[in-house]
Amino acid sequence: MCDDYDIMLIAPHPDDPEFGAGGTVAAWAADGKSIIYIICTNGNKGSSDIEMTAEKLTYIREEEQREAAKMLGVKKVVFLGHDDQSLEDTPAFRKEIVVQIRTYKPGVVITTDPYRRYVWHRDHRICGQAVMDAIFPCARDRLAYPDLIEAGLEPHKVKEIYFFGAEHTNYFSDISSTFAVKMAALRCHKSQVGKFTQEQEDNYRKVLAKNAEGQAYELAETFFRVVLPL
Ligand SMILES: [Zn+2]
Repeated sequence: MCDDYDIMLIAPHPDDPEFGAGGTVAAWAADGKSIIYIICTNGNKGSSDIEMTAEKLTYIREEEQREAAKMLGVKKVVFLGHDDQSLEDTPAFRKEIVVQIRTYKPGVVITTDPYRRYVWHRDHRICGQAVMDAIFPCARDRLAYPDLIEAGLEPHKVKEIYFFGAEHTNYFSDISSTFAVKMAALRCHKSQVGKFTQEQEDNYRKVLAKNAEGQAYELAETFFRVVLPL
């Protein structure tokens, strides 16, 4: 049995993976990388429809996320099942992330940037912070969780983190050839972008084109990349 994945994308909500890194995920999956998503909350506050309930929305958003992930070539999606808008930087949440990292042993983790200033969804801030601390030092250190060692979850060292939503970026990912599938995957999230018009898609394309300014290609997703010390 091999549970190891090359890349783990840890996101606060369904649809964050596609917005933040969908083109990159598609490119890396096409390149043969095995990719797993960990979705921390079920996104069950993300509706202004007065007929909608949190339970219904949980089901809908998980289905939408599975469909989008499949379209991009992602092998597995794990839902941690927290309520939307409820993430807190607690030892328990950090440990939950450590369990995922030690179970699936990714070399690379993609997540939200915790340091974006001002208007930034609190779940994004907390998720990025908890993931960063889970990777270093908690997932790495044998003595951090004796009970996890007993359960067979050995320490694991993640090599690189890519933060999306970052104000300061140092990594540009060419998504010119995967933009179409990124948009198709985004459209799987019907409850969120159901009314995404052609004009909005064109404007979004302009943002991605601006990301690629000065590069030899047309469209880019951007990240702040951190290489962990060995
Ligand atoms: Zn989000």
